[in-house]
Amino acid sequence: MSHPFFSFNRQWRGKCFVCNQDYPEYNTGKLLCEHCKGTYQTHPFFTEVSSKLHHYFATVLPETDVKKDLLLQNFSDTFLRKESGRKKWGKDVLKKSFPSLTPLPCGQPALVKMDKLADFSGFKQVWTLDASPYIWSGTYKDLRSLAILSKAIEHNIRHLALWTAGNAGYSLAKMVHRHNATVSDKSQRKTVYCLVGDFAPPEIVVTLRSLQYRVAPISTGKGAILSREHMYNVVASMAGDNISQEGYWQVTDGWDGIGTFMYSLLAQQAFYFLKSELEQSAELKSANIYIVLPLGTGNCLLGFIKAMNRVGEGRAKIISAMPYEDNMMSFLKEKTGEAINGRTKMRRNEPEAEKLTGFYSPLSPCLYTLWQKSNPAKDGYDFSDFGQVEFVSVDRSEQIEAAARILGYSEFLVASEPSALVSFGALKTLAEKVGDNLGNSVALVVNSGFGLMGIKEQEFFTKSIFAFR
Ligand SMILES: [Zn+2]
Repeated sequence: MSHPFFSFNRQWRGKCFVCNQDYPEYNTGKLLCEHCKGTYQTHPFFTEVSSKLHHYFATVLPETDVKKDLLLQNFSDTFLRKESGRKKWGKDVLKKSFPSLTPLPCGQPALVKMDKLADFSGFKQVWTLDASPYIWSGTYKDLRSLAILSKAIEHNIRHLALWTAGNAGYSLAKMVHRHNATVSDKSQRKTVYCLVGDFAPPEIVVTLRSLQYRVAPISTGKGAILSREHMYNVVASMAGDNISQEGYWQVTDGWDGIGTFMYSLLAQQAFYFLKSELEQSAELKSANIYIVLPLGTGNCLLGFIKAMNRVGEGRAKIISAMPYEDNMMSFLKEKTGEAINGRTKMRRNEPEAEKLTGFYSPLSPCLYTLWQKSNPAKDGYDFSDFGQVEFVSVDRSEQIEAAARILGYSEFLVASEPSALVSFGALKTLAEKVGDNLGNSVALVVNSGFGLMGIKEQEFFTKSIFAFR
């Protein structure tokens, strides 16, 4: 059974992240670019499923134009606010691209200067783009969920399915739960199906179920991944035969496409705002900006890369922070060995965040391409090349050190879960790499927030940083 798909409205187009091929329309059924699939399918990571790559992976992402003027506004929701000026409703940015934008609020990120982190790391200034004030999951996934729900309303999609046991599912479930309570017409209600691995912590499954999520734990065995066809068949068996007529969209983090678009808007705005802050200092007017963000599934990372290609003026370099060994870039291992940052790393006995350790991301081909370009083992590799993304592996001790710095502050509380702290943990290694140019450099750390955690992750806060609080 082939899963149903739909096209976004005409003002949207698709663009392949790997080869930049344009597609005149963005269709949720055709997400793998025909033109470049040969470039990575011979790699061992992809060969296992190479005949059906399009069932697993995506490289084509949706795009539409948003005016720069809109992103420079002072907002009261969804996007950033400035210190002064009349506030606009943040979703004014999105009105044209999302004709059926949900009226639900989203919460608001903040751009915060963190002086003590500058002292700690050696950067001239350190800023945090803090996503923890988003109201649904307390993470930047809320921005993605807002876009998914709005598109689902526009195209009358009633069934949303995803493979997750983390914040992507939690965020969408909470927002859809609220949406369902606000519409009187039953046909406008949505159902969210969450497929989780049998490793998913029971407390998270219970939370998702409490939001009237349809949760199906699937025993896939370690390392297995689920294709879009598999997922559809599981969901169809739960939903009944009407699913194809009632609209279906698979929005596993990375399949949605639209998350990357939303993150790119936020990234552009953060760059504009930070730039205007730096212009107030003669010394830092043209400073280099290092943007550190968690690897996750790559959805946010790709959004920031797209944004900086567009507005970064060649002075913003993207740094992807990932937990040492416990990350989805399994194809990196053969190249990096044990000492990824040039020294021995401290690994946890067990990963505390299962959501970080699965190696499957629909965006793997895109991440693989980025990795190939930035491979430190390559001749002629140059850290000061601002067009290249840097991958920094962060170990347990760095994460704990960062936790103490972030969570020990009383002046401003940034809520940051273990997976988010990885970005802060990368600061010191990054400062070493920047070396002599530190005096002309600032760092912007993206804090993904503090969302749904299993017991093992919660232990990080009761044990790991016990000494500091
Ligand atoms: Zn392509």
